[in-house]
Amino acid sequence: MADSHEINTRSSLLKELESELDVDIVGVAALGDWKGTRLEETTLRLLPQAKSVVVLAMEIYPEILDLTSPERITGTASANDLYAQHANYINGRLSKAAYDVAKTFRQSGLRSLPLSAAGCPYDARFQEAAFSFKHAAEAAGLGKLGWHSLLITPDFGSRVRLACCLTEAELESTRTDFNNECASCGICLEICPAKALSEPETSQPYAINKYACCSFCSAAGGCSECMKHCPRGR
Ligand code: SF4
Ligand code: SF4
Repeated sequence: MADSHEINTRSSLLKELESELDVDIVGVAALGDWKGTRLEETTLRLLPQAKSVVVLAMEIYPEILDLTSPERITGTASANDLYAQHANYINGRLSKAAYDVAKTFRQSGLRSLPLSAAGCPYDARFQEAAFSFKHAAEAAGLGKLGWHSLLITPDFGSRVRLACCLTEAELESTRTDFNNECASCGICLEICPAKALSEPETSQPYAINKYACCSFCSAAGGCSECMKHCPRGR
């Protein structure tokens, strides 16, 4: 286990790197704070000696998100294509940043695994990713999960994409607790065209029928309605 001097040194290294990464938010989930959780289990499955998860986020522009629609008709020009291009661009930037973080720590002999913004391997049978970026982001204090099952950040609301880097470097946590204001809103439950969202039990952050959401998104050629209509960060 690293002593506090080593932790401070590596955390300063990450701080110095932040401006070069050129992303909107950088946070750290220290695995020591998450013993026995699914975050720890899934992280250690991918990198057995991991100590920290660095989470990177970039804003999705509202100008582009607002043009999206699940009403796509085959053969018509669709503004959804603009969103796809935008997401590809952001994914590229985030993935590069995740690799840059990994490179920095690997140069110090610390094994690190960059996870690109395109997402982790996904088990379609259970609609379950091998590693959840949004849960890691919540653990790193980037925001709070909302009733639409997405991360809500203070500055950009749900309009963010994420990438991560798992690392053996022990880093200072950036964990912060935010209030969830969903109970006084409920807009996403009303707006979801697949009726995939419902009010969660108090012990749960959200209740989503992932199969209903996924089939609707596939058939419609994409859907971002819950993200688009969430009033947080707008
Ligand atoms: S639309 Fe309202 S209820 Fe849904 S996630 Fe956003 S704030 Fe929460
Ligand atoms: S992406 Fe679309 S279908 Fe899925 S939960 Fe959000 S609004 Fe509903």
